Amino acid sequence: MPFLRCISKIHTCSSAASKLKTERSLTSLTKTQQALFSVLHLVCLNCQNKEKDYLRNHAHLFEKHMFAVGHLSLGYLFSRGSAKLLGTEINLPLVFLLSLIPDIDIIIPILEHRTITHSIIVAILLFLPLFAFCRNKAVPYFIALAQHVIVGDFLTGGTYGGGTQIFWPLTSANYGLPIGILSGTNIAIEWGSFLVAIAVMLQTKDLQKLLKSRLWTLSLFVPTLTVLLPPFLHFPLSVPLVLIIPHLVYLGLFALAIVTVFVQLCEISDEQTLHKRAET
Ligand SMILES: [Zn+2]
Repeated sequence: MPFLRCISKIHTCSSAASKLKTERSLTSLTKTQQALFSVLHLVCLNCQNKEKDYLRNHAHLFEKHMFAVGHLSLGYLFSRGSAKLLGTEINLPLVFLLSLIPDIDIIIPILEHRTITHSIIVAILLFLPLFAFCRNKAVPYFIALAQHVIVGDFLTGGTYGGGTQIFWPLTSANYGLPIGILSGTNIAIEWGSFLVAIAVMLQTKDLQKLLKSRLWTLSLFVPTLTVLLPPFLHFPLSVPLVLIIPHLVYLGLFALAIVTVFVQLCEISDEQTLHKRAET
């Protein structure tokens, strides 16, 4: 990754330059050493400028994201909590789908990231008919979608002027806290929400429910193929080493749920064939 390569270069030349600087303050340098110091100093400055340029030009990659793990976990927890309060049930694949769906703009070239798909105004308009017909039952699903914007992406507004256009199209102003996705704070949020989500899934037996085959489970294809899997292929950003385990857990869980549906569909098909043969 260019960013990490640059960081390591800076580290190397910074240490070399500071070592020479220290030596210079202790003893007087020879002409060759002075020339070497000047070259190293210039290389270091050049590298630092390149890093700044790279971060500025690629801020949308580093800043305008929360990783999929955080969105999925927070989406599940908020949705599960609201369903408990309202005394309703939730469709887990649908909750996971809604938790990640705003980030589909990452793979649609005509859409700018964190604009239309991240607007709370658009979310409310889309849910108005559902609120009218399903009333309370629609609330946990709306919360799964809304938390992506007003919690997850708001928290990771980014330190390089990222943020989210929460009130698009009323205003194109970006809102968010100055926390970068690679910061310790965000990594802690992602890991913390993941562990709590898994604990709640185990306690409520939601994990077993997710693996019980239903046709809706196939909707997990969408978040899996659009947001969860691409970072493993370094698109549009890479999963940091520290978050690989929770990403793999979700990926494995979704893959298992999808495979279960196909296995059951095959079993049903075999049963129907045997039934037809027995009749004829
Ligand atoms: Zn997002």
